[in-house]
Amino acid sequence: MKFITPTTMKPHAVLIPYPAQGHINPLLKLAKLLHFHGFFITFVNTEFNHNRLIRSRGRESVNGLDDFQFKAIPDGLPPSEKDSTQDIPQLCESLTKNGLAPFLDLVKSLNDDSSGCPKVSCLVSDWHMSFTLDASEQLDIPEVCFFTASACGLMGYCHFAELVTRGFCPLNDESQLTNGFLDTKIDWVPGMKNIRLRDFPSFIRTTDPNDVMVDYNILQTKNTPRAKAVIINTFDELETQVLEALRQKFDHVYSIGPLHLLERVVENARVKAIASSLWKEDDACIAWLNHRARASVLYVNFGSITILSKEQLLEFAWGLANSNHYFLWVIRPDLVSGELAILPLEFFKEVEGRAMMVGWCSQEHVLAHSSVGGFLTHCGWNSTIESISEGVPMICWPFFSEQQTNCRYLCTYWEIGLEIEGEVKREKVAELVNDLMDGEKGKEMKKKALEWKDKAQLAAKLGSSSHYNLEFLIDEILLRK
Ligand code: UDP
Repeated sequence: MKFITPTTMKPHAVLIPYPAQGHINPLLKLAKLLHFHGFFITFVNTEFNHNRLIRSRGRESVNGLDDFQFKAIPDGLPPSEKDSTQDIPQLCESLTKNGLAPFLDLVKSLNDDSSGCPKVSCLVSDWHMSFTLDASEQLDIPEVCFFTASACGLMGYCHFAELVTRGFCPLNDESQLTNGFLDTKIDWVPGMKNIRLRDFPSFIRTTDPNDVMVDYNILQTKNTPRAKAVIINTFDELETQVLEALRQKFDHVYSIGPLHLLERVVENARVKAIASSLWKEDDACIAWLNHRARASVLYVNFGSITILSKEQLLEFAWGLANSNHYFLWVIRPDLVSGELAILPLEFFKEVEGRAMMVGWCSQEHVLAHSSVGGFLTHCGWNSTIESISEGVPMICWPFFSEQQTNCRYLCTYWEIGLEIEGEVKREKVAELVNDLMDGEKGKEMKKKALEWKDKAQLAAKLGSSSHYNLEFLIDEILLRK
């Protein structure tokens, strides 16, 4: 017999992602898992993204259910109806200054007797939103912080302050970007071997002693021990050493990924259907993939934030065209700086019959499709872990943030990545596509990628590491009175 807990008696988790696609997705997956474990859920977006969801998916996308609701708070920036990712430094600065007051008001209003929901029992906040810890302490509600990217990325951010102290950041001048300084070996970060200055999150490549992103990440690191636990969307087998080192640094660190695999236990169809894409997905690419041979298609997608110059767009386009391989290329409407991504007619003539281009896709479905044999990626962590979970080897073109660190791990430790180093050139793109899709290197990488896939799938299984960690997190931290 199944007992049903009345809504008002459920534990109530409030989840708040950093307002960008790559953060909303994993937080929403965790929200669905907590709901599956009996929690009442309040999911907090910024008004900007809440409105984008309504525009791209309809109002019903944020209506929620009786025990799974969406709320929105302002981000402190001037109102905008743009359908593109916001300026990251501006957003970070604004949230740090303006985020706490509306968040505090929201949690207080949820706790009001008239709210109709159970009292808030825990906060799950994005690591990048550490102002929420003030709310947690003022209202005496435990908070867990969720670092949505890799453990190696987190370790990188955690050493920004030391890079400053040791004189590596800020750079003396721009010449250090190209004179080999970034190749300096860094051998003092626990759990990370064979890394260079260039493998740290890209924000340290600044000459500004008051750089917003450096200061912001130092602040988040400083605040981390105030949370009851740190959770990361990775798995133990993938980042063993760096996770061990993080566990020395912070009291409770739980790897709970790949979350999209753990999420598969969610049974409630209405909860499953809650979607988080800020752009409308074009399913035509799946129909196109259905007609391609096994592992014959290179999938190309640079995520939600990357911006290309017109020249870079052309180098990628001609590199793909000259590789003579099939490819599916997702070109976001705002992918190219300052203008709509426009490719020349000759390119379309050249690739006719072997290329598909869409504005946004359901990436998890694409990567799981048997026709996909490789992924040209910017190494965003979600893309990385989604690709690892499906055994798809990668060509890496890290754009910014901890994508540089992910790229290093992909190419050096996990042996499933080939990097496009330096400025992107069409010859290099074509060469690496051929290496990956046809060459000996590609075969070895595919073999390795399948091994990682098995480990990822195993970590998410009942009783395995990530599954166990999630259960422990719920029982020992989130439900503890
Ligand atoms: N994504 C998607 N469709 C697309 C592009 C991206 O569904 O066409 C999803 C992708 O599956 C991932 C997220 O958006 O979950 C992008 O996050 P990631 O960390 O890879 O990169 P970011 O966008 O943060 O740079």
